[in-house]
Amino acid sequence: MLFDYPSAQGTPHGSTFFPIPMSMKYIITITLSMVLAACSTAPVRNPQAKWVPSPNRDARRALVIVLHYTQQDSVQESLNTLRTANSQGKVSAHYLLGKDGRLYQLVADSQRAWHAGGGRWGTITDLNSASIGIEIDNNGIDPYPDVQIEALIALLQDLTTRLRIPRHQIIGHSDLAPSRKVDPGAHFPWKRLHEAGFGIWPSGELTDAPEGFDPWLAMAAIGYSLSDRPAALRAFRMRFRAIPATQMQPPEPDDEDRRILYALSRELLR
Ligand SMILES: [Zn+2]
Repeated sequence: MLFDYPSAQGTPHGSTFFPIPMSMKYIITITLSMVLAACSTAPVRNPQAKWVPSPNRDARRALVIVLHYTQQDSVQESLNTLRTANSQGKVSAHYLLGKDGRLYQLVADSQRAWHAGGGRWGTITDLNSASIGIEIDNNGIDPYPDVQIEALIALLQDLTTRLRIPRHQIIGHSDLAPSRKVDPGAHFPWKRLHEAGFGIWPSGELTDAPEGFDPWLAMAAIGYSLSDRPAALRAFRMRFRAIPATQMQPPEPDDEDRRILYALSRELLR
């Protein structure tokens, strides 16, 4: 509450503390209303229905966290881009994480940032509406410094707790848009993230998938769109086998892919 002002509420004792004439009170009330109206957006009500508000509600929440690399050379450059545009248009993200672990927030958690673009993860087709976007300062070539990953883990701990986002729902931009994107890249330490409790990773000894196991069905169950199967497989291998997306690859899942997919399927069923 920004204003705790007795006369604004018209309390019986208001004039005892503030002997303000009625005309002045009217002006103050009007001014306060204008200031507050400018600060907040009135709820949009459907004119077809009678408005009968219920107090049992809260803000809609994100379901997924999307990790990116900036592919730029400095935090300052990325702070500029994320408040203006890149070559494809206006862009933003909720957070930008520097190499030194310093964290910047550009969009409120409750607002929709423009970081994901077109793509799909599971049944979610509008990722910007359903996610928190984190840009990590990295040029796409260098490894991620420890201090940066530690800061990311602290941020994920905060977001998954406070916004109640499932801890396994941490994905890369390349996972949701495998035909277009390769970030956060083959260097990103997904295994370490999983050891801290975030994202998915095939834990334990890998075993051969049983007869009849369908690796593509497992890919789809994890969340990958199969509209471009070779691209989805490249994104999967980049994340779980650290194979660069630029490398020539077999277009069908091999034995190692099948073992990883089988382990991940069992993990998701737990
Ligand atoms: Zn990205």
